[in-house]
Amino acid sequence: MNPWLIEAPAAAMIAAAGMTAYGAVYPRAQLFGPTICRTDSPRKLALTFDDGPNPAITPKLLDLLDRYRAKATFFLIGRFVRECPDLVREIAARGHGIGNHTDTHPNLFWLAPSQITAELRLCQEAISNATGAPPKWFRPPYGFRNPQVIPAASALGCATVMWTLIPGDWREKPAEWLIQRMQPIAAHAQQVSKSSSGPATSRSGDILCLHDGWHCQLNADRTRTLAALEYWLPRWRDLGLEFVTIDEAVRNPAT
Ligand SMILES: [Zn+2]
Repeated sequence: MNPWLIEAPAAAMIAAAGMTAYGAVYPRAQLFGPTICRTDSPRKLALTFDDGPNPAITPKLLDLLDRYRAKATFFLIGRFVRECPDLVREIAARGHGIGNHTDTHPNLFWLAPSQITAELRLCQEAISNATGAPPKWFRPPYGFRNPQVIPAASALGCATVMWTLIPGDWREKPAEWLIQRMQPIAAHAQQVSKSSSGPATSRSGDILCLHDGWHCQLNADRTRTLAALEYWLPRWRDLGLEFVTIDEAVRNPAT
C-alpha cells in the first residue's frame, strides 16, 4: 500500500469526507451551491409536499388545503406526472406551486453529471407537458446534493429548495407522533410573536417538508400526514401564520 494514503493525510481525508457529507446532507448547508431553506418572513409558512402526485391522497390534500385557503408547493416525480397528468393540472389550477423532484427519485449524490441532468430534464418535460409551464423549483431526492446537482438544476431554470423542518411523515408511526414532531413550527411562531427583533430565525419563516406520495409507487397511504395537517392548520392559522407557495415565500417580507 502507498504509505502516503495513510497516517498524516488520513485526518485531512476524514475531515474532507465530513465536509462532503455535511454539504451533501445537511438541509441548510450551502457548500455545494445556494439553496432556499427559509421563507422571508416569520409570518410565512411554506408547506411543501414531495413524491406525488398520488391519486390516493393528493385530491384529499387539495380539498383540505382549500378549506384553510392554504397554498403549498408540490415537488413531483416525473414518472408519476406522466401517469396522472390531470391531477398535476388540478394542483396547478388550485393555485399551488409545482417543483421538480427528478424523474425516478434516485440518490443524485452517486450519479454522473449527465445522469443528473437527464433525471432533472425528464421531470421538467413531464411537468411542462402536463401544465404548459416548466417549474422554477427543484428539490433533490432525500435532500442529497453533490457539486453538480445545484448547477444542473439552475441550468434548467430551477432554484433548489430545502427545508427548515422534515418531521419524517414516511415513518410507520401514529398520527400523534407526527403531530408532536411538527410542534417546532408553532413554537417558532409563538417565539417570534414575543420578540420583533432578534436572531435570523426570528426574521425568517419555516419551510415544512411533508409527503403526499411515496417514491416507490403510486397510491401510498399518507392519511397520517393528512391527519396531522387537520390538527395543525387551524392552530397555525390562529397563530397568525400565512400558508404560502415557495414563489410567495421568497418574494419579499410580509408586513
Ligand atoms: Zn422524495
